[in-house]
Amino acid sequence: MASWVMFGIGCVIAALNRDYAPVGTMDKVDRSVFKYSRSSEFNCCFPLPDVAVALIWQTMRSINGAPVNFKENPDTMSHLNVAVIGAGPAGIYASDLLVRNSEHEVHVDLFEQMPAPFGLIRYGVAPDHPRIKGIITSLHKVLDKPEIRLLGNVTIGTDITIEELREYYDAVVIATGAVRDRPLTIPGIDAAGSFGAADLVGFYDGNPRFSRDWDLSAEQVAVIGVGNVGLDAARVLAKTADELLVTEIADNVYESLSRNAATEVHIFGRRGPAQAKFTPQELKELDHSPTINVVVDPEDIDYDAASEEARRASKSQDLVCTILEQYAIREPKDAPHTLQIHLFESPVEILQHDGRVVGLRTERTELDGTGNVRGTGSFTDWPVQAVYRAVGYESDPLPGLPFDPEAAVIPNDGGHILHSPGGSPVPGLYATGWIKRGPIGLIGNTKSDAKQTTDMLLADATAGQLTAPAHAEHNAIIELLDSRGVDYTTWEGWYQLDAAERALGESSGVPGRERKKIVEWEDMVSHARATKVTV
Ligand SMILES: Cc1cc2nc3c(=O)[nH]c(=O)nc-3n(C[C@H](O)[C@H](O)[C@H](O)COP(=O)(O)OP(=O)(O)OC[C@H]3O[C@@H](n4cnc5c(N)ncnc54)[C@H](O)[C@@H]3O)c2cc1C
Repeated sequence: MASWVMFGIGCVIAALNRDYAPVGTMDKVDRSVFKYSRSSEFNCCFPLPDVAVALIWQTMRSINGAPVNFKENPDTMSHLNVAVIGAGPAGIYASDLLVRNSEHEVHVDLFEQMPAPFGLIRYGVAPDHPRIKGIITSLHKVLDKPEIRLLGNVTIGTDITIEELREYYDAVVIATGAVRDRPLTIPGIDAAGSFGAADLVGFYDGNPRFSRDWDLSAEQVAVIGVGNVGLDAARVLAKTADELLVTEIADNVYESLSRNAATEVHIFGRRGPAQAKFTPQELKELDHSPTINVVVDPEDIDYDAASEEARRASKSQDLVCTILEQYAIREPKDAPHTLQIHLFESPVEILQHDGRVVGLRTERTELDGTGNVRGTGSFTDWPVQAVYRAVGYESDPLPGLPFDPEAAVIPNDGGHILHSPGGSPVPGLYATGWIKRGPIGLIGNTKSDAKQTTDMLLADATAGQLTAPAHAEHNAIIELLDSRGVDYTTWEGWYQLDAAERALGESSGVPGRERKKIVEWEDMVSHARATKVTV
């Protein structure tokens, strides 16, 4: 009887909160109910059958407007504690899929090394792409879920080892992504003025791990690589600082960009239009800036049979070719900065004088009939004072886990982590996102990727192939973090940091500016931990 009275009270509170509580309050109600439903504490104080606990929880969630996910057999379903490592899109989508499954009651602890979640959406996507950054809003709905607990400012491999995590969770999903440039080995790559695009991205996106200042004294700049990261770097370098002021860039970034001397930015790719890795939208968008004149030499538009086939096979590639053709034939735009895309130019050496970049040497290439290119033996020296390589990102190994140095991924079979490439699975360990399949693809791709991985995990759980952890209690991991003095941040903490950044944007006096990023690590942590948070 007492149980049903509690249930009734819970429903009334929930209904009242729905209409009058400030945003976020209901999440806390949900969270505490869920937390207790999973701990022995609740049943100690209020002995309820599991089904009743599940029913209260589901009812309160449905009143709150959250999608209700009635499990198929709530009385027999198994409880799983899963650790997901990395709160980028892959880790967040995987967490969502795990808690939404209909067979198992899953609780996820989502570990993130940065004080804030969202991975490369926060620290990779360019600041002048507010629509893409806006994906964060839809991810809020996932992280608001009471079954997912964010633990930020915790580096797995340093603060807690993988081996230790195995003692707290039925399964561990690695979603650690990638943050640094793939190396490019051409002579001169170490000269002053030769940079990795990932370092520039880390700087302009306010990643606390990257430089606070940037040398932008070069008037002519080369970017090596015809993918979207190259376009991002080139576009940010070709725009004026004032064009970016309305975005979330931090003060130190605006100040550096205000000193940017670049008037010419040259992008170089060794192959042709049908092999360029741009996406159409990003390529077209270059032209939206009134300060950038986009140029393509008509000589750089060429196709062989394989290229024509590539156009027919992919609508997106065909569109990229069409946009490049349009840039090649149009009248030049009257704009102070030129951004030229050079195709069939293979960078072979960064030229230097006294250790500083003074140019880029490229070799002209031509199509060989198969979509590949060969060198023509004709070389050009382009006078540039800075070179950015944007030839791809690369993932780092995680201590205690296998790593395939060739592919720079954790060896896996599409989900299970393997002892070695093609080897046997390591029970209870899974991978998803860029660390699983390499640094290619858009945010949307990480969703299907996460589905493949979580399906495998859940199937293993159903088949009884996961080993129950030694410490399954909800707060055992918190006690471990506390005992080690780790200043972990939480989802409530993110709301505090988010509010502080939004307030800075609003008070900046720039109309339409939604946010100004907080860059210093300690400042992020202190905002996120400003008030005592519940876990
Ligand atoms: C410069 C750039 C611009 C991009 N722009 C776009 C775009 O405009 N549109 C688009 O759709 N896609 C874009 N992408 C691609 C998109 O960012 C990726 O597809 C996506 O972020 C990959 O997701 P992920 O979760 O695998 O990796 P990440 O986003 O890299 O997330 C991994 C997370 O794991 C954390 N982590 C790493 N190691 C540890 C550890 N030891 N302990 C705890 N946490 C750890 C990291 O801090 C990070 O938060 C861009 C990528 C880059 C590099």
